[in-house]
Amino acid sequence: MNLEKARAALKKYFGYDSFRPLQAEVIEAIYEKKDVLLLMPTGGGKSVCFQIPAITLEGTCIVISPLISLMKDQVEALRANGIRASFLNSSLSYSEQQQVENDLFNGHLDLLYTSPEKMASQEFLPLLRSSKISLFAIDEAHCISAWGHDFRPEYRQLRFLKKTFPNVPVIALTATADKLTRKDIVVQAELQQPEIFIASFDRPNLSLEVRPGRKKMEQIIEFIEKRPNQPGIVYCLSRKSTETLAEKLRENGINAAAYHAGLDDSTRPKVQEDFINDKTTVICATIAFGMGIDKGNVRWVIHYNLPKNLEGYYQEIGRSGRDGSEADTLLFYSAGDVAMLREFISEGDSQHREIQLAKLDRMHQYATALICRRKILLNYFNETMLENCGNCDVCKNPPKDFDGTIIAQKALSAVSRLQEQVGTGMLVDVLRGSKSYNLLSNGYDKIKTYGAGKDVRQEDWFFYLEQMMNQGLIEIAYDDHSKIKLTNASKSVLFDGQKVQLVQAEVQKARKEEEAAKIPSRTKRTSERQRVRDELFEHLRQLRLDIARKKGVPPYIVFGDATLEEMAAERPTTEADFSLISGVGEQKLREFGRVFLDGIQEFLLAKKDEGMRIAGSTYLETFRLYKQGASVDEIAAQRGISPVTVFSHYAYLYEKGENINIWTFLTKTDAQRVANILQNMEPPYKLQEVFLALNEEVAYEKIRLSIALYNKHKH
Ligand code: ADP
Ligand code: ZN
Repeated sequence: MNLEKARAALKKYFGYDSFRPLQAEVIEAIYEKKDVLLLMPTGGGKSVCFQIPAITLEGTCIVISPLISLMKDQVEALRANGIRASFLNSSLSYSEQQQVENDLFNGHLDLLYTSPEKMASQEFLPLLRSSKISLFAIDEAHCISAWGHDFRPEYRQLRFLKKTFPNVPVIALTATADKLTRKDIVVQAELQQPEIFIASFDRPNLSLEVRPGRKKMEQIIEFIEKRPNQPGIVYCLSRKSTETLAEKLRENGINAAAYHAGLDDSTRPKVQEDFINDKTTVICATIAFGMGIDKGNVRWVIHYNLPKNLEGYYQEIGRSGRDGSEADTLLFYSAGDVAMLREFISEGDSQHREIQLAKLDRMHQYATALICRRKILLNYFNETMLENCGNCDVCKNPPKDFDGTIIAQKALSAVSRLQEQVGTGMLVDVLRGSKSYNLLSNGYDKIKTYGAGKDVRQEDWFFYLEQMMNQGLIEIAYDDHSKIKLTNASKSVLFDGQKVQLVQAEVQKARKEEEAAKIPSRTKRTSERQRVRDELFEHLRQLRLDIARKKGVPPYIVFGDATLEEMAAERPTTEADFSLISGVGEQKLREFGRVFLDGIQEFLLAKKDEGMRIAGSTYLETFRLYKQGASVDEIAAQRGISPVTVFSHYAYLYEKGENINIWTFLTKTDAQRVANILQNMEPPYKLQEVFLALNEEVAYEKIRLSIALYNKHKH
């Protein structure tokens, strides 16, 4: 078996032109009958690594997966691509199970998804033995290891696979990175000299951004309003806050729902399902949400509070952009969150306290970082990245240092004169010389530094104070009404001339402005072309939703966002062009090609009616009239173009694979004569040269059609 076959299958069944990193290598190893351990982040494309061998090798690939709830969708997605797949688990009736088992025995399946329990059951083994098995794929393979975060004892029984089927390769797949688990998987599954592939954990399509956690509600609403109809998740710390937030969003006209473990058994799955099916756009959830959800088109994730550690954070933002299209992530950071989490941990059991605190520190460092955030993340997962990523807020607006000694001195001096008795808000008021009642009634307007920081904007002061805190120049006493306290370091600034470097607040401002002007993926693009593209995307999304509802499947099973995006950009008008779109395999071309082509055509014609000039639409209009049965002369008259132009449209459409019957206008003899001439010419062919070479005996429009015919069959 060779890679060419694999590549052809990738195109035919999935509509993809090339393999992603490591996919080809993994497939090759399987073709060589080697055992494989594959570590790849969510969305990296693990499934293709066993699905392509499953399709191309003789026999059935058995996929063992712990999540019964996902099997149905996975199988449905495969079937939508024309792949023979089924699943076998306790959710099927007895007769349904029989049917699937017969299919397996008779070699009618490329893939069979099943649970570890079923695999280990005594009655299933004889069937497995008497069927032709090409490959075993152990999905979520970390479940086999007690070191992993999701140990499932039933997975342990899978060690019988290699014992019973020593000649069938096993591929173990997981998105869990840690080394211990990795080793343990190999041991527990008894993989034989496995090839181990570790993909980068980088997810370049996820943008990273951290903002100060002030006026979060306002910011979230603004963020969502810039991304209409884009599915997203807001992660909150408490059940209560998921509900309040969802409520607030709904009051602002946003289609939002809350999700947490406390919902009753009938509501919870419904909330989840509505999100998967694009019926609910925004979910406000605790971190309980997301496990076992396979939704590719989550376009953004917001963290309302700081997560406990980077593992959790990365996993949660990783639920966006699984389809590979751009997705935005936003984390709100506040020093208060850090203090609260620290308290939680300190109250917890002592055994892991130190580790948890260290992890929280790393999270804190990430949130306040002034270097490329992705570097920090990947570094945390033991990967080094040399270049800056260009897709995080720090890269987009690199911080500018300046000598902040005077600013720091003013602040510290005020803290000192206020006898460390006020919090940040009052401190800033004093520095800016506010006349608030509270301030005046405390007599704070009498201290020497009152109004000394008037020239610095209020929000900039917050930004500087936060930096001072991160540099250890001040401390916040969370146990004493969050009053600001001096430290040893502050004393050296106040009394020993210690210099302070700060990052300019202008950068913060620039970031905000950039966000405001941000050209969100498919909303507020400036150029007309972009606008049309966004509208078309929306049109196609609606079409997809209609089709999905009619078929009773999640929309992504019809087409992924990336595929719709490409359609909106390329605006294919013919089946041939349509099949070039990534994600359009043969089955989907047959099943949905016409509907989407019509959708695109309809949209473009409507735009044209609005007076917009759209490339390609002139052909479409000719084609529309042609399909209505109009003659060349009628089309020419109606459209105000010459009959020759109509013929050239026909030629174009025909060459692109549209159903134009050129033989109405052309004889085989003429076509052959033209072909003979073309054989000795170099493209692009000049009509006049051909015309002259044929002694002016064949009319121009016939030559035009013959060239189309010639081109089409040459390819
Ligand atoms: P994982 O199981 O690693 O989370 P998936 O196998 O679900 O990832 O793949 C993630 C997405 O990437 C899916 O939409 C899948 O169809 C797509 N994909 C996989 N391989 C390719 C490829 N070679 N080219 C384009 N898209 C791909
Ligand atoms: Zn970066």
